[in-house]
Amino acid sequence: MADKTEHGRQGSLTVVTGCMFSGKSEFLVAQLQEVARQGRPLAAFKHSSDNRYGHRDIASHSGHRFKAVAVPDASRIAELAGTAEVVAVDEGQFFAGNLVDVCRELAAGGKRVIVAGLDLDSWGLPFGPMPELAQTADRVIRLQAVCVRCGRPADHTQRLTPIAGQKMVGGPDCYEPRCAACFEAPPIEMRC
Ligand SMILES: [Zn+2]
Repeated sequence: MADKTEHGRQGSLTVVTGCMFSGKSEFLVAQLQEVARQGRPLAAFKHSSDNRYGHRDIASHSGHRFKAVAVPDASRIAELAGTAEVVAVDEGQFFAGNLVDVCRELAAGGKRVIVAGLDLDSWGLPFGPMPELAQTADRVIRLQAVCVRCGRPADHTQRLTPIAGQKMVGGPDCYEPRCAACFEAPPIEMRC
């Protein structure tokens, strides 16, 4: 899927995935800071849960951040990517399925696309377009956290407060990383 442009620049799609606290945003921020340091054009996006556009930071739990544009739909990413060589998307799980086509088209056009997002929701089930995106990616970086119960590598995000839909937003006090053995899925009828 990675085509060469007329300038010979190779596009690519990289997916960074895992549970909360696995360092996805940290990875993304570090990549973006390096691209910016090299003076290369980049565009960074994250999902806005409302319909307004604006600037929001991609923030890691350890406090590193990078300025991003908040968009409600992936079609806006295609419109705003412009001449950026690197296009980064955080919170990929909140986007609709058209994120997959948008990312593939940007990569085919010669851009280096990096998408970070949760692969599993609070029920341990596939979250948004992330699994499909990972299947079509040139590279998948699957990060793990540490289970707070037993100390083993964690792939699941345990919700600690009452569920309000599939959206996973909230501070460290609302969630904790757990391994599959320690993870306790909420009742499935609460998934909407
Ligand atoms: Zn565990």
